[in-house]
Amino acid sequence: MPGTNLTRDEAATRAALLSVESYTIDLDLTVSDKVFASTTVLRFTCAEPGASTFADLVDASLHEVTLNGRTLDPAEVYRDSRLTLDGLEADNELRVHCELPYSHTGEGLHRFVDPVDDRVYLYSQFEVPDARRVYTTFEQPDLKSTFTFNVTAPEHWKVVSNSPSPAPEALADGKAVWRFEPTKPMSTYITALVAGEYHEVQHTYAGKHGDIPLGHYCRQSLVEFLDVDELVKLTEQGFAFFEEAFDFPYPFGKYDQLYVPEYNMGAMENAGCVTLRDEYLPRSRQPRSFYEFRCSVILHEMAHMWFGDLVTMKWWDDLWLNESFAEWACYHAEVEATEYTDSWTGFANARKQTGYRQDQLPSTHPIAADNHDLQAVEVNFDMITYAKGASVLKQLVAWVGLEDFQAGLRQYFKDFAYGNSEFKDLLAALEKASGRELGGWAQEWLQTAGVNTLAAEFEVDAEGRYSSLAVRQTAHPDWPTLRRHRIGVGLYDEVDGRLVRRHYLETDVEGELTELPELVGQQQPALLLLNDSDLTYAKIRLDERSLATVVDGLSKLDDSLARALVWGATWDMTRDAEMRASDFVALVLRNIGTETDSWGVSRIPTYAAQAVNHFSAPAHRNDLRAEWERGLRELLGAAEAGSDHQLTFARSYAAIAHSDAAVADLEALLDGSLTFEGLAVDQDLRWVLLTSLAASGVAGDDRIDEELARDHTISGQEHAAAARAARPDAEAKAAAWEAAVTKTDTPNETQRSIILSFQRPGQDEVLAPYVEHYLTAADDIWERLGTQRASTALEFIFPRQLASAELLARVDAWLESSPANPAAKRYVREGRADVARALAAQELDARR
Ligand SMILES: [Zn+2]
Repeated sequence: MPGTNLTRDEAATRAALLSVESYTIDLDLTVSDKVFASTTVLRFTCAEPGASTFADLVDASLHEVTLNGRTLDPAEVYRDSRLTLDGLEADNELRVHCELPYSHTGEGLHRFVDPVDDRVYLYSQFEVPDARRVYTTFEQPDLKSTFTFNVTAPEHWKVVSNSPSPAPEALADGKAVWRFEPTKPMSTYITALVAGEYHEVQHTYAGKHGDIPLGHYCRQSLVEFLDVDELVKLTEQGFAFFEEAFDFPYPFGKYDQLYVPEYNMGAMENAGCVTLRDEYLPRSRQPRSFYEFRCSVILHEMAHMWFGDLVTMKWWDDLWLNESFAEWACYHAEVEATEYTDSWTGFANARKQTGYRQDQLPSTHPIAADNHDLQAVEVNFDMITYAKGASVLKQLVAWVGLEDFQAGLRQYFKDFAYGNSEFKDLLAALEKASGRELGGWAQEWLQTAGVNTLAAEFEVDAEGRYSSLAVRQTAHPDWPTLRRHRIGVGLYDEVDGRLVRRHYLETDVEGELTELPELVGQQQPALLLLNDSDLTYAKIRLDERSLATVVDGLSKLDDSLARALVWGATWDMTRDAEMRASDFVALVLRNIGTETDSWGVSRIPTYAAQAVNHFSAPAHRNDLRAEWERGLRELLGAAEAGSDHQLTFARSYAAIAHSDAAVADLEALLDGSLTFEGLAVDQDLRWVLLTSLAASGVAGDDRIDEELARDHTISGQEHAAAARAARPDAEAKAAAWEAAVTKTDTPNETQRSIILSFQRPGQDEVLAPYVEHYLTAADDIWERLGTQRASTALEFIFPRQLASAELLARVDAWLESSPANPAAKRYVREGRADVARALAAQELDARR
């Protein structure tokens, strides 16, 4: 039974048989608020007349199916989300008329009503296989075609798709039809439809190959937050960079960016019709890291216009390459073309850490995963795909050199434009451009899982000079591959109160032990930094002297990227139970006040909070919580007025606040009796404060209702749901659980807000019953809630803070006996691994 699955073999068979000429898709969005009408006319040829195939369509109420004029009986041909098509001719026309439901999970055609003004907003989200929830498809990336959309909608709506929006033709009853021109050849998953009462702004970018119309769209209630000048500036900087770097004109005519509600991911690279989550138009003060990230998202999607949309993977095996490339390209472009010139530092402080974490979970997999079917794609689409993949491409660029890398790419775009390719095609282009054999490199880096650890081994002579120095490479026994790494090695001395780099060496590391004879005779520095410049993807260890140097004064290190490597190394050591959680917290408190990288400032306190709440020994956790709370209060008081530090420390302080004094501070910030110069207690910060008071049991439903009355937006509703879920009483937890885990119609973003707020430190007693509730729910949650909501719930509502040997044993028993599907079990196994890691860290931390 295929269900909604599709195997690689089935797709290959279908691609060998068919060639798709065109889709004509008529959608009527005026049927009701529950369903829309969809009529698809699919023209395609068949290489073997008489053969059979199938088309894809999910959840349809079919009215009519005809193949080459023959009427087919839906009851006979429509099963398991497929339409069986027998007796194909050389030239075929399939016509399918049906009704389909709107989505509230962000998959398919999502429908949203803004609570502020009751206006209606729709948008599609199709990757990986959800175009078949909106029209009849051959749902696989290598059956490219042109698409002609005709959309009937209320006449006052905006209707946007991959082709430029035509003038609507009026129909009766306040309706109109938008007849779009056919698209360029593309895959189904990057087609798109966005419709509703959107606000629209148009600009034109004069590029080196001609004009590109730039549209920006958002909900009416967000118009005041659409900082369109900034968005246009970044978009133009991106186009100028990519058209030059890729040496290929932007392929899809116009470029619209639509900020849409209740969006599951950051954004989606629909050709010429990019959708982005509308939280990127913030209504409250945000730190620079927020804007840096938004810029990287904008550039990531733009890079996909070439890498992904123009040249598309043949099958989802190369999804990693699609994402890793866009990820690498966006940071590269940010550095080269925008004001975010140190975004690789931000990458190291935040994004890259998610890759390291994912790669050390039992579910890790090679970057180039074997995606034999769509279910495997679901299991293998994670931060290995994005963060590790981008890190490894960065290493590849260091390995072949940027110029050759770029030359290979340019040829690749020309060779495969509007077609499909596989990784080997890119590799061949890069080998040709660089003259380097890359098959072995790809094998080591892409076809094996796990992260290596690099540590220095040395001897020092009587004068304090290295008499030997080598890099030792190790690997986890389950993932034993040792790799070739291009790395930098930095030697830093303390000079006039600063840590200054005296010597830098770039070299190749290979195998277990690599001698560095070039550095023999150098005076042992205060800090020896492996992977300086962050060229490779590996965990690094600091030797004893280097660790002492940074604990004492990391802030003396001027280079933000070098600091990011040290932050990363110490956080790794904490996670690996090689550095006490208490020591990591002390390191953060001592040095975060002077950190300058925007991501460092906003992300590192969250690592420290994790160390406090999960990695500290239970016996003295209360002391460490108090120390962290006190330290943040001091940092908040000392932070520069209006700085990102001030905002971040205020948020972090609110997150930990539990003492009477701290709770009183939060109340006083809310009522205005406590102020910090430059710190605006705006709506989103009000919610942070109130949610913390709710978690402490100080603020109840009445206070949350009151706040919601001030902020009756979808964002307010989501914050209110989170605040209620945070409350430490059994009734509140039961209601939150019902909404987020039991009910099947809670909108995706509301559900996520509840889930993220549910598990709280210091609430062990009220949360204890939810171990069993979690495991029971996990048995069938995937089937009940669907991919998006099930994965959110399983990952983030796992009872991590109840870490104990008993919890491990209970989870093990469940893993043995549960009928849950592999995708669901994966999240449970990951939660278990986090608990095991926390217990080891707690044991180390107890020894102080
Ligand atoms: Zn992407």
